[in-house]
Amino acid sequence: MHSGREIKARTPLAPAITPAAVHVYEDLDDYEAVASGERQGYFYGRNSNENRSMLEAAIAELEGAEAAVSSASGMAALHMAILALAPRPTTIVATRELYGGTMSLLRQDLEPSGYEPVFVDVLDLDAVSAALNGAGLVLLETITNPLCRVPDVEAIVGIAKERGVPVLVDNTFATPILCRPIELGADVVMHSATKYIGGHSDLLAGVVAGDAKTVAAARARSVRMGGTLGAFDAWLALRGLRTLEVRIRRHSENSLALAKALRDMPGVAAVHHPLLEGSPSYEVARRLLPDGAGGMLAFDLAGGRAAVQRMMKRFRMVSFAASLGGVETTISYPEITSHRGLSPAERAELGVGSGTVRVSTGIEAVEDIVADFEQALAG
Ligand code: PLP
Repeated sequence: MHSGREIKARTPLAPAITPAAVHVYEDLDDYEAVASGERQGYFYGRNSNENRSMLEAAIAELEGAEAAVSSASGMAALHMAILALAPRPTTIVATRELYGGTMSLLRQDLEPSGYEPVFVDVLDLDAVSAALNGAGLVLLETITNPLCRVPDVEAIVGIAKERGVPVLVDNTFATPILCRPIELGADVVMHSATKYIGGHSDLLAGVVAGDAKTVAAARARSVRMGGTLGAFDAWLALRGLRTLEVRIRRHSENSLALAKALRDMPGVAAVHHPLLEGSPSYEVARRLLPDGAGGMLAFDLAGGRAAVQRMMKRFRMVSFAASLGGVETTISYPEITSHRGLSPAERAELGVGSGTVRVSTGIEAVEDIVADFEQALAG
């Protein structure tokens, strides 16, 4: 609630937005001291900005990290984190159930520039251990997209540490409210702050948190590449953070209640939620996510795409939107949204079929959410 700011008498309770691209100076030595980092201050908006600094300080505090750096989107954050952590040429061992955009970044941009991505089933610790030989980086998601599986980050970090391989965790779905991977031994955490941190589907932002040296390297690269976050989006993301804990608590309660209710609804062949008994991640999730698993779940409709389309047309409150983490309940359809870059065979291997629906459970009254799915699936 209070991180990333110092409240003094007669200052505004909500921080001011500083959109200035540049700050003025009257003294060359002063400019020199600020530009070199010797003295705290701001000089050019691509390098630093007051609103970004507040957001970064708050995220670092929440993640238990030494420092954090923000970026214009989650993808920009991921890119700068990978470049900072793993000098090429090297192998990146990644969870095979990766956000589709991340998979595309690895294959289409990083692979041609000297990285070798290797995708493993991170629920299989033996497979992870074998893949880690000679690797330069492990890339995990705390809760996978879209089937909401939970890798044993603690165990994987243990294996990676023995081999001296750094671990990068995409903590977008869990947020630091539910899981702090750095406390579990991970080196660096990134977020698409577009999702739960912002929380209202009205901004794009990313953030990387970790040790001061890696964050400084990521920041320097981000300044050179230019994908820095705008002041207004930083301000919005920080405003989102102020209510993150209460939202996440409600998202978590609602998603588990909806997952349980969906199991008995007509046409539903399977429900994927890590805290449902019978989930392949149940034991790990209970240990790593003791306060809840956030708002995400998925389910499979036996009738495939036609059944998904029928359900969508019948919704009264729930809407279709190809993102997640907002206050309102939305569904997405991985086959044409997050996982459209994968071939049908690759999707099938992951368990993503033409009946798979991903749900971002909002913070509405849970009865209203369940009732809308019930009436949409009736008959
Ligand atoms: N990581 C995960 C888990 C995501 O779901 C997304 C976006 O959907 C991203 C990263 C990329 O974030 P952004 O869209 O903010 O670039």
